[in-house]
Amino acid sequence: MKSSLKIGSIMGIPVKLHITFLLILPVFALVFSINEYPLGFAGTTPVILNYALSLLTTILLFACILLHELGHSYIAKSYGVEIKDITLLLFGGVSSMEEIPREPSQELRMAFAGPLVSFIIGFILLGANYILASTASGYGGTSIWLMFYILGSINIVLGLFNLLPAFPMDGGRLLRAWYAKRMSYVKATHYAAGFGKMFAFLMGLLGLFFNPWLILIAFFVYIGASEEDKSTTISVLLEKYNVSDIMSEDVRTVSPDITVEELSKFMFENKHLGYPVMQGNSLKGIVTFTDIRNIIPTDRFATLVSDVMTRDIISVSPEDTASEAFKVMTVNNVGRLLVVSDGELVGILSRSDLMRTMTLLNE
Ligand SMILES: [Zn+2]
Repeated sequence: MKSSLKIGSIMGIPVKLHITFLLILPVFALVFSINEYPLGFAGTTPVILNYALSLLTTILLFACILLHELGHSYIAKSYGVEIKDITLLLFGGVSSMEEIPREPSQELRMAFAGPLVSFIIGFILLGANYILASTASGYGGTSIWLMFYILGSINIVLGLFNLLPAFPMDGGRLLRAWYAKRMSYVKATHYAAGFGKMFAFLMGLLGLFFNPWLILIAFFVYIGASEEDKSTTISVLLEKYNVSDIMSEDVRTVSPDITVEELSKFMFENKHLGYPVMQGNSLKGIVTFTDIRNIIPTDRFATLVSDVMTRDIISVSPEDTASEAFKVMTVNNVGRLLVVSDGELVGILSRSDLMRTMTLLNE
């Protein structure tokens, strides 16, 4: 994803900042600087200290969110789950992991680890603030220890918010793990998602009367619940099939030496939007409609497929399950995968192949 910027890595996990995070950073700092004690630093003198504390609090807040995510990741890693990266975005963080453990007790611990980290940080900071506040002679509304109070409180709220029993919050996963001890994983997800939707509905209703922000959160919870339900059903159903069962074997390939103009004609005639690029018998890359759509008409005759193709080939093996292929597609955000066996291209699997199989399975 080009919309994120990698800032480093912790425990071998790349940490990224999403563009929305960079936009929200000054907004949070502004909120802290205009709110009065004990919600912000307004009134602190000199004014520069107000701004510095507001900015520092914002940065530390996101460091706390990162620690929350690392809590999940740490437990996940101990169960052998691969974490691709952690991205900090507008409202919190997201760890993208290859798969969530299906073992209810593992999912339970993993989901709880995040809020637990937030509570621990919260109580430590509030405790430190309490001690410092009683030893120092009051805040005067300007003390740096106010930051401990603000960050501590936010961490407690963050932990509680994440325990709301609805996807995509951690509480939704806890609820699923609770159900999954009593029934199949798909059914458990369905029940947990149903509960989350009901919860979202009630929250939206409350929002109508009290606070319009609740409607927004309710909407986000409702979408999260539906998505989780759908993607779990898809991946469990697709586990029964291998890539070789549903891939297209009749693969049209293109040469890296043809022009983009020739390629777009070829796409139009063959009606597929992505093709492996082959030079003789060797696979060089993949080229899709997305790679060429922004090339202006006058450049189309001079640009070659080799200039625009993606060299980084994302492939699966014909023996992989369709469910694994679906995950690879989702994690990498691509619409098609090349099927490679012993270094040789044997087929292509597109999102529409998977969707077709899903439709047939649901009949
Ligand atoms: Zn969490």
